[in-house]
Amino acid sequence: MYTLRVLQRLKPGLSPHGSTSLRSLTVTSDVAKQKDDMLVKMENPYKEPQKGCVLCNVTVDYKNIQLLSQFISPHTGKIYGRHFTGLCGVKQKQVAKAIKKAQSMGFMSVTHKHPQFMRDPNICQLKQLN
Ligand SMILES: [Zn+2]
Repeated sequence: MYTLRVLQRLKPGLSPHGSTSLRSLTVTSDVAKQKDDMLVKMENPYKEPQKGCVLCNVTVDYKNIQLLSQFISPHTGKIYGRHFTGLCGVKQKQVAKAIKKAQSMGFMSVTHKHPQFMRDPNICQLKQLN
């Protein structure tokens, strides 16, 4: 009896060869038990944390204004610091250099973010800066 129930729990589609009364008894008890025995989908707790920053595998180009404008303030046009952007040191320097180059060449405004890129998703780790 006990082994049959365990077998049914492991393989729900398996139909045991026994008397009908015994089968119905085990099925009803299983249905009652399944509510707290249900499998819960969860994230892999052993998943390794992400290595590097968002831009680690991206080449930073001064002509890619849409990418660069995500690292400046929409109100003042200033470049966000590393504690806001969450970039690694190498990429933060590359981004700052590329922004300055784009601004000096006239691709980007110095005082504000381009209105076309205002609705871009935040890739910085900002909580509330409005
Ligand atoms: Zn990086």
